[in-house]
Amino acid sequence: MNFVDIIIKKRDGKKLTKEEIAFFVKGVTDGSLPDYQISSLLMAILLNGMEAEETAHLTMEMAHSGGMFDLSSVEGFKVDKHSTGGVADTTTLILAPLVASVGVPVVKMSGRGLGFSGGTIDKLESIPGFRVDVTEEEALRFGRESGIVLMSQTDDLTPADKKLYALRDVTGTVDSIPLIAASIMSKKIAAGADGIVLDVKCGSGAFMKDLESAEKLATTMADMGRHVGRKVTAVISGMDQPLGMYIGNSLEVMEALEVLKGNVGGDLLEVSLILGANMLLLAGRVETEEEGKALLLEQIKNGKGLAKFRELLAQQGGDVHIIDNYDLLPLSPAKLEVKAEKDGYITRMDTARIGRASQETGAGRMFKGQPLDFGAGIVMKKRTGDAIATGETMAVVYSENEEKCRSAADFLKKAITIEEKQAAKQPPLIWKIIRQED
Ligand code: URA
Repeated sequence: MNFVDIIIKKRDGKKLTKEEIAFFVKGVTDGSLPDYQISSLLMAILLNGMEAEETAHLTMEMAHSGGMFDLSSVEGFKVDKHSTGGVADTTTLILAPLVASVGVPVVKMSGRGLGFSGGTIDKLESIPGFRVDVTEEEALRFGRESGIVLMSQTDDLTPADKKLYALRDVTGTVDSIPLIAASIMSKKIAAGADGIVLDVKCGSGAFMKDLESAEKLATTMADMGRHVGRKVTAVISGMDQPLGMYIGNSLEVMEALEVLKGNVGGDLLEVSLILGANMLLLAGRVETEEEGKALLLEQIKNGKGLAKFRELLAQQGGDVHIIDNYDLLPLSPAKLEVKAEKDGYITRMDTARIGRASQETGAGRMFKGQPLDFGAGIVMKKRTGDAIATGETMAVVYSENEEKCRSAADFLKKAITIEEKQAAKQPPLIWKIIRQED
């Protein structure tokens, strides 16, 4: 097979065969295809799409590009959760310990930041000593002993996705339904959980900007998971403003800890509870979402969620003292307050642009393999709908130097719309939940 023919075929909008997709994934995995040809096909897929059958083939070829995790030695119904990517979307660090603390094991493989969106692995790596590279054997042992593992993909698991993910991040080929669906579901299928809750983000800070495309992505992924015998729930959640108030790696760890300590509520807590409750529902641990939310909230109040997070840190070499002393986490030295230039109300936030601002600070990557500034990022001071006065601080930017702070501030100013009148209506936090029986 000649790979150029495959690129041209997709460039011309034609459907690829199972054999052509297998050839592509094999070439990605064994390194026989160069990055420029892979990137070219990725762009053709982004522009021309894939039919359901092609996406299913791509997913399964990627899932089988390495080994498959066998979680059967971890007792109980194992649940996983995956977000399609957002800004200040720190739910994993909150819900994983909460869910594990009520006896439902969470063995979760997470990813790095992608484009303007953050990634759990980068956030965890900002914790001094924390080891995300866990072997399969260790993961199973941790799963049995503590019921919680947060780890990066092992070298052996979906190596094709690892390569494609890094290339997509820097070639403008992230926001494609078939590529996102195959990336997420190949990992989830290979990672072996019995149940999966998908958090499909929708809005200005998501790869899916409207409900129609978010629903399409959600049903594509849910159908694929169910087809291979996994229980799947897809939550379509709003991403029209940063979910939490802290954006960046160590900054998001701090905010997650504040939520686990019961000091912070708001949208980040609400979405974490809803996703967590749906994990408990899939596991049969509760009968209703309300019951699940109440149970998880109780784990915040009684400190058991935080205790599970401490156990996770100790287990994977992280410094447990960060929990009580945030000064042990990195924070970049230069700081700039971004102030409002007029009076009014914040009516809109272009959240992808806010994510882009966080990349400017050094919290996200602009090229493949770029080392991150773990202490960089943004602390938002306002939410959409809030009143604001001239000179009032909208956000605080942290970075390595003043120039980077100023550059991030420029993106932020353009991202935040201030108008005289309140917007009539704000988009919902939860658009829709698609459950198996629906
Ligand atoms: N998360 C993933 O794992 N892959 C994507 O393509 C997008 C979000």
